[in-house]
Amino acid sequence: TEGAKDPHANGLSSVIPGWFSEISSMWPGEAHSLKVEKILFQGKSEYQNVMVFQSSTYGKVLVLDGVIQLTERDECAYQEMITQLPLCSIPNPKKVLVIGGGDGGVLREIARHSSVEKIDICEIDKMVVDVSKQYFPDVAVGYEDPRVTLHIGDGVAFLKKVPEGTYDAVIVDSSDPIGPAQELFEKPFFQSVAKALRPGGVVCTQAESIWLHMDIIEDIVVNCRQIFKGSVNYAWTTVPTYPSGMIGFMLCSTEGPPVDFKHPVNPIDEKECQKSVRPLKFYNSEIHTAAFCLPSFAKRKIGPK
Ligand code: SAM
Repeated sequence: TEGAKDPHANGLSSVIPGWFSEISSMWPGEAHSLKVEKILFQGKSEYQNVMVFQSSTYGKVLVLDGVIQLTERDECAYQEMITQLPLCSIPNPKKVLVIGGGDGGVLREIARHSSVEKIDICEIDKMVVDVSKQYFPDVAVGYEDPRVTLHIGDGVAFLKKVPEGTYDAVIVDSSDPIGPAQELFEKPFFQSVAKALRPGGVVCTQAESIWLHMDIIEDIVVNCRQIFKGSVNYAWTTVPTYPSGMIGFMLCSTEGPPVDFKHPVNPIDEKECQKSVRPLKFYNSEIHTAAFCLPSFAKRKIGPK
């Protein structure tokens, strides 16, 4: 991958010794840095460089090809939002598919819903799953739910084989579109997601930052408006350790029973949540609705037509 050719591939900085700096051609001219207490794991899988380090203020950090995937301190702001935004927007989700998401955090979040009967996950890189189980037990705990089936393989190929109308919701928890996740941002992939969903089913995909990647987001929006005949919306959350401190999601529904993403019809039950691994840290119904409000510059480009 591009990251692997980069002299900063693992992000261990020669600029500030003892710090990790996230240097990438995807965000030229800036690099967020974290102080490293200890490197816990470094490996190279068939697909990417994998590293885990203990940071001094964000807990343990998972890095793929020099790019931060999650930290123990702020993963809640991503995992809860990418999962609860779609699942709280439809009544009684039963079958859910996760593409990517090898760390297991999205599984942990889906498991909060008692209506869910089946959870499939297709992650390309087994090393991510193994490393997460070893170093991030509070995230990988998602794998312990008996409703989960793990498929190791390419999400693009997996979706092509899914019978039409199988899932109520698909969550695409991918890395950036450089490396193995590239195709997960392209039109044919969105077409197979739409086919795999039942009428009125929903998809939520990681959709980058309005500060850094408006061009990528505009392309995704154009493709999604052609493919998903229900609704197409961009929502966002703050994640301090992601480039520019925020990340967005595309939320779309297929033609069928209408889905109004801004007004959750399936609010998550407090009592149900207390039985889960841990209470929600970030998500609530107010933040759900607020997540769809866009700054004016973004609204002009990707707001409702
Ligand atoms: N859950 C994380 C967080 O909290 O930010 C986000 C990223 S998750 C680790 C992204 C995963 O997508 C990686 O484990 C990567 O291996 C996986 N992935 C990338 N391309 C893929 C593909 N084509 N099919 C399936 N999984 C893929």
